[in-house]
Amino acid sequence: MNPSMNGGFCKNEESEQEKSDTAPAATGKISIRFLGTGDNFGSGGRLQACIHMDTGKSRCLIDCGASSLIAMKREGIGSAAIDAILISHLHGDHFGGIPFFILDAQLISRRETPLVIAGPPGLIQRVQEAMEVFYPGSSRIERNFSINFIEMAEGENARIGDMSVFPVRVIHGSGAPPYALRIECGGKIIAYSGDTEWTEDLRTVAEGADLFICESYYFEKQIKNHLSYRTLMAHRAELGCKRLIITHLGEDILGRLGQVELEVAEDGMELIL
Ligand SMILES: [Zn+2]
Ligand SMILES: [Zn+2]
Repeated sequence: MNPSMNGGFCKNEESEQEKSDTAPAATGKISIRFLGTGDNFGSGGRLQACIHMDTGKSRCLIDCGASSLIAMKREGIGSAAIDAILISHLHGDHFGGIPFFILDAQLISRRETPLVIAGPPGLIQRVQEAMEVFYPGSSRIERNFSINFIEMAEGENARIGDMSVFPVRVIHGSGAPPYALRIECGGKIIAYSGDTEWTEDLRTVAEGADLFICESYYFEKQIKNHLSYRTLMAHRAELGCKRLIITHLGEDILGRLGQVELEVAEDGMELIL
């Protein structure tokens, strides 16, 4: 059983939800739409980390940076249509959109179905603190929907709706364990590095993945906590993924995209697996 905790400020209990299936359901395909592909500083005008995944049976966000609600509305994705939010690590450009999402779900889209928010240990406290800093009292008010928080343990599969999520510990100081995520659904594997410097564990993350979405903050500069394109390319042959797309792009690599030989994510870009 997954370690599952309900925040003290939320009603609880997950339940099976009715979904209106869209195109991917009919085809058995998974839709991946990049909502935010930038770094924490909005380099290149790109929005912060957020990926929308539609399995046909459920819809989730992979990371929810502070700008995610803006990105969702640009793409016509309502907060009520999201079943789960999966968080790689507790930095604002990866989970800072959650307070806005929850308030929108309550006040604007008037959500009534349960929401799952899964992430590393410390998730519940950090979300509660963020809500109280941004909108005092907002974490304690009664809502018309429940939130089931899941603090995922590293190296243990978490069952979330129709997805199996496997968190792998990476190297990225964020005040809580940082994860890369391997998401299995419908026979497909979507892997995501989150933010991390190079670690051999990324080979585990990418192995056999239909898609590996990997951060590439710099072009060649090596810094702690993040990957560069050069480092990623030096290890490319070790990554057993079928497809690799880079994201979380900073100013430095954005100025050198002409030299990049990998697929590069763009805000609003959609692909079908
Ligand atoms: Zn980070
Ligand atoms: Zn980041």
